[in-house]
Amino acid sequence: MSSTFEPEAIRRDFPILAKSFRGKPLAYLDNAATAQKPDAVIDAIASYYRESNANVHRGIYALAEEAEVAYHDARKLVARHLNVDQEEIVFVRGTTEALNLVAQTYARENLSEGDVVLLTAMEHHANVVPWQMVTERTGAVIKVAPIDDRGCIDLDALWALLDANPVKLLSLTHVSNSLGTINPVSEIVSEARKRGVVTVVDGAQSAPHGPIDLKALGCDFFAFSGHKLFGPMGIGVLFGRKELLAEMPPYHGGGDMIDEVTFEKTTFAEPPQRFEAGTPNVAGAIGLGAAVEYFRGLDLDAVAAHEQSLHDQAQAGLESLPGVTIHGKAPDKAAVLSFSLEGIHPADVATFLDSQGIAVRAGHHCCQPLMEILGVPATVRASFAFYNLPEEVNRLVDTVRKTIDCFK
Ligand code: PLP
Repeated sequence: MSSTFEPEAIRRDFPILAKSFRGKPLAYLDNAATAQKPDAVIDAIASYYRESNANVHRGIYALAEEAEVAYHDARKLVARHLNVDQEEIVFVRGTTEALNLVAQTYARENLSEGDVVLLTAMEHHANVVPWQMVTERTGAVIKVAPIDDRGCIDLDALWALLDANPVKLLSLTHVSNSLGTINPVSEIVSEARKRGVVTVVDGAQSAPHGPIDLKALGCDFFAFSGHKLFGPMGIGVLFGRKELLAEMPPYHGGGDMIDEVTFEKTTFAEPPQRFEAGTPNVAGAIGLGAAVEYFRGLDLDAVAAHEQSLHDQAQAGLESLPGVTIHGKAPDKAAVLSFSLEGIHPADVATFLDSQGIAVRAGHHCCQPLMEILGVPATVRASFAFYNLPEEVNRLVDTVRKTIDCFK
């Protein structure tokens, strides 16, 4: 692993970045969808399967113990990274599963007719649909805090919604996957907690961009996906405050989550095992542990500065072109840039970029309600990671310029 922050050197840790597509070197600018994986992660997974594979929690032989220790070490690494206790870390498949778990256990148990679940207008479908599913069953209702023209949550409106309604739970994204807005989550969580509101933070887009200190953030639940944090797919994390996890019923039933089972009745294990029914994704957890270690080994201040500079370079370049609209101009933004070109469909822009080896996303980014507010069916989204380079941003801007010329 590279010890100091030099993007050119760091790229060598990520074998896929050396590939070419359409005869051009890959410029991977779709990091908000999933991030690429360093050798440290790929090797940790391969080495687990080569040397330590056994089912966990079941064997009393040495190999099973080795697998189990590695699985629990991964939990410790994640807990340390988030500054919480390891009992508060539940391994899940990803952010989507984490949010569904909270909705179908904590919320289903605690919501009643007329209670309010408060969301914001910029939520990903993963932070909308699970709440619709649970409010339909419980008679609770969803209310939505609006955003302003820059793509920031209207905080006055949010406080008013918190005060005017019997809000039981507030669930919001830390960083918007479509607009890049970094929400003032600690302030919002602190206001919600003053009013006795339980808080859920979708950290899918914040976890890959810097350290996360959940003690400082103060939320009750926090979710993120391993694959966006340079780790494997199919593994993610739900943090839940100990006191809340202890009260929650299980999500899935089966092996590994029980204390005792008879045909009449089952008693359940303590958290986090209560929420990890069945054979877990051991290799995924180990890969995630390796990803967390890799990420923590970087100079995260330098990472943030580099990503900000790529974002600003891309925004300035795109704004210099005719007919470009940037969606999301919050003062505090992650390196996510959504834009549209007048008279050119986002899918055509993405196809043109792909012809030059540049990978971006075009679509609604699983934020259809937000797209409706923006008045567009879709946007083009370039999202940067620490391994991206200014040359790649230049290629993006140049190719967008050529796309505009082509459609004239
Ligand atoms: N929340 C946000 C803000 C996201 O960007 C995403 C994925 O793009 C998700 C939730 C869902 O993550 P996953 O598909 O890994 O469960």
